[in-house]
Amino acid sequence: MKTFDLIVVGGGPAGFFGALRFAELVPDAAIVILEKSDRVLQKVLISGGGRCNLSHNCHDPRQLVQYYPRGGKALLNAFHTFGPLHTIAWFHAHGLRCYADASGCYFPVSDDARSVIEVLENGAQAAGIRVWTQAGAEALAYDPAVQHYLVTISNGDQLGARHVLFATGGNRLTLKLLTDFGVPIIAPVPSLFAFQVDDPGCAGLAGITVDDVRLSLPGTSAEQRGTLLITHRGFSGPAAINLSAWGARVLKQTGYHHPLQVDWLPEQDNPDTTRTILNTTRQEAAAKTIHANNPFPALPSRLWRCLCERAAIPAELRWADLSKARLQALASVLRQDAYRITGRDAHRAEYVTCGGVDLKSLDLRTFQSKSHPGLFFAGEVLDVDGLTGGYNLQNCWSTAWVAATAMAQAATKITA
Ligand SMILES: Cc1cc2nc3c(=O)[nH]c(=O)nc-3n(C[C@H](O)[C@H](O)[C@H](O)COP(=O)(O)OP(=O)(O)OC[C@H]3O[C@@H](n4cnc5c(N)ncnc54)[C@H](O)[C@@H]3O)c2cc1C
Repeated sequence: MKTFDLIVVGGGPAGFFGALRFAELVPDAAIVILEKSDRVLQKVLISGGGRCNLSHNCHDPRQLVQYYPRGGKALLNAFHTFGPLHTIAWFHAHGLRCYADASGCYFPVSDDARSVIEVLENGAQAAGIRVWTQAGAEALAYDPAVQHYLVTISNGDQLGARHVLFATGGNRLTLKLLTDFGVPIIAPVPSLFAFQVDDPGCAGLAGITVDDVRLSLPGTSAEQRGTLLITHRGFSGPAAINLSAWGARVLKQTGYHHPLQVDWLPEQDNPDTTRTILNTTRQEAAAKTIHANNPFPALPSRLWRCLCERAAIPAELRWADLSKARLQALASVLRQDAYRITGRDAHRAEYVTCGGVDLKSLDLRTFQSKSHPGLFFAGEVLDVDGLTGGYNLQNCWSTAWVAATAMAQAATKITA
């Protein structure tokens, strides 16, 4: 049996970051990263559309935790210790400069996820961290005689270490392995996906982006305001994808069949404002057709025509002839448009897993198991998931940092 100071299970961002932090504090440590597939950091490569949105420009931990539909409060301590500013400073110190775009998303200045991977891989190599691919952890045991965890990998070898960091993301088989070992797991379900809807509207709207809409799931408290992208199959863009996170569990329960309400004009706080604008247009544009004269600059003309059709306004109807009932129907479509979600958009893989290691079973100062001392967790394997915008990778950096610091302190009794 080979023994190590630290075994990291999972060659993703949380695993690499945890290994690097441990190596920094315990320079001579024998560390191995086990990766079941043939390549490490695969999700980083595709993250942020290949640009890697590695954090978010939000530096108040109390505000930051609000972008996590699950597990945010559990991150408060970790964000105080190692938050977005620390992340950006760490990457800068390791040769990678970053910038925040207008929406607050941090990217490497190269706009290339490969530059993030290079920093992590080069760092691991420089620190002498072994990285073994095609080395999936297939069984976990504990030997109380030597106080070692025993990890059996795909080729049958058994590895031992006092400290094991599980950073295996949402991998279902590995969550099962942890359940079998006695680690409580909250059932995993997908989060951050686009919606298929029964009738995405009129043909030809695909590709239209609306900067500010409010989406909600009637009968629940889930709602989200932001940019909406209309696709061939339904709705995508940050507003839809983030709504899927707030509604991840209820949507799973309904088999991804759920009513969806769209407020196309959320900047108009008062619904009367919409009716007033329609009334004013009825007078000022009396001789013009409704379909061809859109009084709302925020709505693209093609979308406006579609919404008129959804309100059963005939194409040739003039503003002067808009009855009270039709005006009301139009106002209602504009502010409370009703659709039905008919599925997750299979075109895009889910971004993150909601569910994972039950946070109640962990010491949240260290992300160490309360009942299995020496067993630590970081990243998406935790029952933590964030919205789009760099929050999920920030979860990886913060929890891996805190867990690795605690493991290193326990290993050497040093104060970091
Ligand atoms: C398309 C896409 C785009 C994304 N874009 C962004 C973005 O821009 N910003 C952002 O913040 N987040 C983004 N995310 C989410 C982010 O990538 C994940 O939250 C993050 O990768 C989680 O990191 P992790 O290290 O916890 O797990 P992972 O990245 O999932 O890594 C876990 C690793 O462990 C390995 N593994 C699993 N089980 C075992 C085992 N038993 N033995 C050995 N190895 C094992 C897996 O093969 C995997 O390589 C995106 C996700 C996707 C899918």
